Order: sequence, then C-alpha cells, then structure tokens
Amino acid sequence: MELNKNLNMNIYNFKDIDKWIVGNSWINSEIVNLNEKLGIDIGSRWATSQNERNAAKYIHEFWKNEGLQTYHENFDIETYKFINSTLEVEGKQLDVKPYHRCPSVDLDSDMIDLGHGTYREVSEKSENIKDKIALIYRNHEPFTEQEPISNRVAFISNMGASAIIVGDPKSGRRMEYSSVWDTRDPESVYPPLPIVNTSSEHLLLLKRYAQKNHKAKLKVTTEFYNAETSNVVAEIPGEIKGEYIVMCGHHDTVFDTPGGNDNTSGAIAVIETARTVKKAIDEFKLKPIIGLRFITLSAEEQRLQGSFFHVNNNYDSKNKPKYVLNCDELSTGNLKGIVLGFSHLRNFLQGQLDTLNEDLKVHVMSQIDGHSDHFPFLEAGIDASHPWRWRFFGRYPSCEYHHEPPDTFDKLNVKDLKYYISTFSRLLIRLSLIPIEQWPKNPLTKEIVRTRLDEEKNFEIRTG
Ligand SMILES: [Zn+2]
Repeated sequence: MELNKNLNMNIYNFKDIDKWIVGNSWINSEIVNLNEKLGIDIGSRWATSQNERNAAKYIHEFWKNEGLQTYHENFDIETYKFINSTLEVEGKQLDVKPYHRCPSVDLDSDMIDLGHGTYREVSEKSENIKDKIALIYRNHEPFTEQEPISNRVAFISNMGASAIIVGDPKSGRRMEYSSVWDTRDPESVYPPLPIVNTSSEHLLLLKRYAQKNHKAKLKVTTEFYNAETSNVVAEIPGEIKGEYIVMCGHHDTVFDTPGGNDNTSGAIAVIETARTVKKAIDEFKLKPIIGLRFITLSAEEQRLQGSFFHVNNNYDSKNKPKYVLNCDELSTGNLKGIVLGFSHLRNFLQGQLDTLNEDLKVHVMSQIDGHSDHFPFLEAGIDASHPWRWRFFGRYPSCEYHHEPPDTFDKLNVKDLKYYISTFSRLLIRLSLIPIEQWPKNPLTKEIVRTRLDEEKNFEIRTG
C-alpha cells in the first residue's frame, strides 16, 4: 500500500490540488442555493411525484450548466399513495400513519396488547390473536436478543391478526413513515397484513383501551400503481472505458417532508462533489484513469428501487465499479471516516485517506448493511461504502430527523457539509488516478453474498 500511495503522491502535486479544493468548497459553495431550491421551493419529493420529477430535472440542468456530461436513467417503479387513513376509539381520533405499502383496510375490531411483538410474547397469547388488531412497540425488548421487525410482524400475521398498530419510538407524538421490510430478505418486500404507525403516547392509550375491551376503527385507503421516475447521472470519463468509481445519494424523500437531513444533505453532497471534482480536474489538467460517476438516485424511500435499477442495468460480475460511496443523512456532525461493506479494500482505502491528513478511519461492517442505497451494490458483490459519522442526537440534534414533516431545510448543516464535500472530492480524485493494477482484486460473486445474507438476515448488529 505504501508503494501506490507514494507513487500517486509523487506524480501529482496534491498540496496545491487540496488547497484549491478546500478553498473552493468553502468559498464557492452552492449548498445554500441547492438547499433552498430542493428543500424549500420544491419540497417533498416522493419518487414519481411532480415535485420529485422537478427535482430530477433541476439537478440535471444544474450539472449541465457546470459542463458535466449528464443524463437521466428512466425506469418505472411500483409506487402507491395513501388516499386517507384514520384511527378511532370511543369516538376519539388517534394518531395514525400507514407503513410502507400498507394495503387498504376497514376494520372495527378488538385489540390485543402484544408487548414488543417478540416470539415469546406472541406465542404466549397465540390463542387470542385471531382477527384482532395487534398493538406492539417498534422498539426491541430490553435485555433480549433483537428480533427484526420483519420477523415479528410475520409471526403476528401467521397467528391471524387482522392488522398491527406499531408505536413510534419517538416521543411528543412524532411519527415517522416506516417499513417492516428487511432488505436482506426478499420474502419480506410486501407487508403480510395492514400495518400502521401511531405515536408513542397513543400506543399507550390504545393499550389501556385494549384492557377495557374497547374496539378500534382502523381505516386506510391505498392506491397502488406503476409510474416513471429517474436517477440523474453525471460522468467524468476516465482513460479506461467502462471502469468507474461511483458516488451516490438519493434525491427522493418520503411523501410528507422535504427531507433536510434525509436526504437533501446527501443529494447536495453528490451534486457539489461532482461540481468540485470537475472544476479541479479542469484547473489542474488531471487525466483520471478510472471514470467518476455521480448519481442522485430516486425511490430510495420506496425499497431502494432506483439503486436496484441502476445496479441491474449497468453492472454484472465482470463489470463492477471499483468503489462506491453512498451518502444518506449527512446532518450528523463531522466525518470520522468510511465504512466499507467488504474488507478487501480496507488497507488500500486507509492508505489513501491517510494522505488527506485528517485522521479519518476505514471500518468494515460486520454485517451487510441493508439500510440505504449501498445495499443493491453490496448484494451484487460490489465494494460499496458509506461515510462514518457522529450519529449522536445529543450532540447533533438534526441527525434524528428523517421520515417526518419537521425534517426541513434547517436540518441541513452547511459547514459540516462543506467538509464532507471537500474531503470526498480530495479522496475521489486520488482514487480516480490510481492505475487499475494497483487496486486490490474483488473476489466476490452474487452467490457468495447471498449465502452471507441468508445467514445474517435473522438478526441485526448495528454499531457505529
Ligand atoms: Zn435516506
């Protein structure tokens, strides 16, 4: 690793390039303008909606005006909209927000309190669940091995429940749009029964009502359909055709929020890093060996359909990008490093990060992470990663806003984002200049990864 680090550093004067990039990222930043356009003027961007289409057009135009080669990658997705949703007990209207792909339902039924919905709790009450609305916490049961929510709801559904009301972990009647899909398990794509969210406070109220044998009226009307959306791609070609490094982040949001943290922050990181890298390459007349592909992906919030489309449509086992960096939710304090899905790039990437002199560290996930757009790449055996950052809401309150209306433009931290953009620009330029033969080989196949996923899908470790 020492060798290629030094080789690279000898050929190019990174001192001047870095100085230029850092200065430019801070002084000529478009972050505030992009945030105003995406987070305020356009607003929420549910994939396939008019707003989301407008955002994709805007990003395409923006890149075109910067002289980047840019195009839309169009495709149809399975989408839906909630026409209405109501929850009523004893004449009182309670908080309700349907889960991802919740089918239409119209019930007036008894409820049953199933605690956290663990295997133990559900088994104990198995005789009593049929045709009832089950009440569970989203949280895991304390001191107990974590059972994925997809497993918990599948078991409750098998016991014959008619619907599930899940209590949101947040307090203050905040509710997130949520899903029970475990990305790693293709069986869990569609929810097995109607599932809705309620606030933490109203779940406690419902549990009291359940004890008194009050009935709940739960109504959701959902319309399912297919519609067109697009990823937006900008490319800086390299000397070797067909070799790419990818940076991506989704531009869509859930239906009722402009997504300041999730993910105007990450989309802007992609848009601005592309702009900065392009300008630096022109300024210093650099000739990338490996091409750079910047993508704002659509439909991340609708089971990663944009990322899945991109991966299936562009890559196969013989033609994989060398490295992928996915940015999702960057309003999380400053950057600590990079988290890789697989281990073989670890020392190589650490060697490059060390040349930035920012004390950034590379880590490797002990489980394949299914929580964002890096997953479809990982599933295809591609070296994908995401930024390692401080996700402590005590120190960085913006980081706990995602799928709810208050994830607004003010949740985007401009100064932090400038640092992300300058750092990613410095890293990606370095990587694009490293000859192909100096990259560690990637031995992974889809089959190897699938075997790992099947082993891992029934439990969850998430650290960092
Ligand atoms: Zn996101």
